[in-house]
Amino acid sequence: MNVDDIERVTVLGAGSMGHGITEVVALAGYHVTMRDIEQDLVDEGYGNIEWSVEKLTEKGLVDQDPAEVMSRIDTEVDLETAVENADLVVEAAPEKMALKKDIFSDLDAFTHEDAILASNTSSLSITEIATATDRPEQVVGMHFFNPPVKMDLVEVIYGEETSDETAETTYEFVESIGKTPIYVRKDVNGFVVNSVLGPFGDEAAWMASEGVATVEEIDAAMVHRRGYPMGPFELSDLTGIDIGYHVRKEAGKPIPPIVQEKVDNDELGQKTGTGYYEYEDGDGTTYEAGQGEDVDTLRIEARIVNEAAKLIGNDVATAEAIDTGMRLGAGFPEGPCRRADKLGLDTVLDKLNELYDEYGDERYEPSDYLVSLVEDGKTGEDAGEGFYDYGGDSGERHYSTINYELSEDGLLEIELDRPERLNALNQDLMDEVVHLLDTTPKDDVRCVTFEGTGDRAFSAGADITGFAGIQPHEVEVTELFDTVAKYPRPTLAKIDGFCLGGGHELALACDLRIATEDSEFGFPEIDLGLIPGGGGTQRAMRMLTDARAKELVFRGNRIDAETAEDWGLINRAVPDDEFDETVEEFLDDLVYGAPIALEKAKKVMNEGRDQDLSAGLELESQAFGILLSTDDMMEGASAFMEKRDPEFEGK
Ligand code: NAD
Repeated sequence: MNVDDIERVTVLGAGSMGHGITEVVALAGYHVTMRDIEQDLVDEGYGNIEWSVEKLTEKGLVDQDPAEVMSRIDTEVDLETAVENADLVVEAAPEKMALKKDIFSDLDAFTHEDAILASNTSSLSITEIATATDRPEQVVGMHFFNPPVKMDLVEVIYGEETSDETAETTYEFVESIGKTPIYVRKDVNGFVVNSVLGPFGDEAAWMASEGVATVEEIDAAMVHRRGYPMGPFELSDLTGIDIGYHVRKEAGKPIPPIVQEKVDNDELGQKTGTGYYEYEDGDGTTYEAGQGEDVDTLRIEARIVNEAAKLIGNDVATAEAIDTGMRLGAGFPEGPCRRADKLGLDTVLDKLNELYDEYGDERYEPSDYLVSLVEDGKTGEDAGEGFYDYGGDSGERHYSTINYELSEDGLLEIELDRPERLNALNQDLMDEVVHLLDTTPKDDVRCVTFEGTGDRAFSAGADITGFAGIQPHEVEVTELFDTVAKYPRPTLAKIDGFCLGGGHELALACDLRIATEDSEFGFPEIDLGLIPGGGGTQRAMRMLTDARAKELVFRGNRIDAETAEDWGLINRAVPDDEFDETVEEFLDDLVYGAPIALEKAKKVMNEGRDQDLSAGLELESQAFGILLSTDDMMEGASAFMEKRDPEFEGK
């Protein structure tokens, strides 16, 4: 079955996941049937979807008529009726193997023979679920994260018998509903995200159990020094300490004493009012920045990296899939493979060896893949190659935070790709843009565009989690803005959504800016006790009146796109449905315009602005003189005479 053949989808279960998956699929335009075992349950799920779609519409995150979205959803209690026309079934019933097998055996009987049967299980074997059917090649894992509406990641898991066709169609279906799929090529326990996340909580718990650091110190270190969105204990309190406990029990792994103690006392986290922190009689987490300066965070991260290396070595997932999974599924500030390449894989391996020698426990045993990388000298970014290629011996550098495409005509489109952080700029992203602009032959490029991935932001700022623990002399923010501003080709920011802080500065470093009407602009830095550090104060002063520039910087408030256009901060504010067309019109002139003339125009206008008039005029006349002798000028003149479009070659 091809993704285009999927017209009707059925979701089994109207609970937390089932209703969320139904909502996402309906929002993407599919007809969905949501089935649960009792009418009350489907009604409740339907009500939850209705509420959520309304909310999304109110917040402007969805621009569809809520009634129309709801009209695409049918509810059903009878299983056979629910699935008989389905091309894809996504099962989100309770996490019990016997129940899932019953369901899949019924599905096998009731669905048409081409239908794909997917399970949203978090921890059960896809291979085993598939044995309940006569079509195991059409059974696949499709693991959404909670809540599906917000979380972008979906793991597409191969059971032993799953066909490539089934997995590929499922993968494309996930893309078609606006989510990001990653392949999990073997049915390993915990799949990718939960496997790699395991050591985050586990090693932290061993460290606290041993008394080498306190719960607060470890959480503070991981959040404030290493940029994770939550500390391991905070996370465990949120998900339930018993969950991690049972996962370890089932996998036959030892239980850290601190976990055992919490489970024995029935202090399971937020749901029982007490866990590692007090929720009922206290205010929850109590850790603060500055605690945990001495915590050996590498001990936790080395185990995370080791887990990732095991998955790669066993052909379960690629480094890229793992990194995407951990960023989107677990909110990691950067993928563990990317981070390890920066730490140095030899450093990671040394840490594991040291721990293995000290404790003799298999959880520290280095994976073969990690060992082989280090033995081959692929120790990370400094060596030119590690999990990723950095253009060492073999060529192209891997980018982890941007995507790009260079067309034959010379349009270089750059996407800021950190949707999980609203495309906030971190050091990697800034370095990668600079590297791309520096290494792409200038003659191949006629124009550069910047845009954000996801549907919420161009870029919402600089990633302040990355600033944690950074020393003033290590901050290298200006290079990106400088490189973009001085780039010898026209640059255009395509803004759809938040354009704030560092993202706003990047947009201002571009020559032109086009935004959707619902975009928002601002410099929130002042509220963090900072000022714009990527040229924002200066560029705003030169583009706007003093009063307006200072209003933006001093007050930290946002302005909408219409105001931004009014103020002269952007070129156009247009409705969503005119955005692409408007951008195209601009690009038509920029990509096919006379390259040398555009380069000179940019240069003399940028440089002349900061000089007095006579110096500016001097710059202009020099450039004018040079242009008179170009082939482009001849071509422009003849095309004009011959009433045809010029074909500039940049000569
Ligand atoms: P839930 O208990 O909220 O919902 C399950 C629903 O399935 C219930 O409404 C139940 O009545 C219904 N149900 C029971 N038997 C059914 C059947 N035969 N056909 C249709 N519906 C049936 O559970 P949940 O949290 O939504 O989890 C569902 C699945 O998703 C589980 O496999 C779970 O492991 C997985 N999952 C959960 C999360 C999470 O964070 N909650 C995340 C990812 C995956």
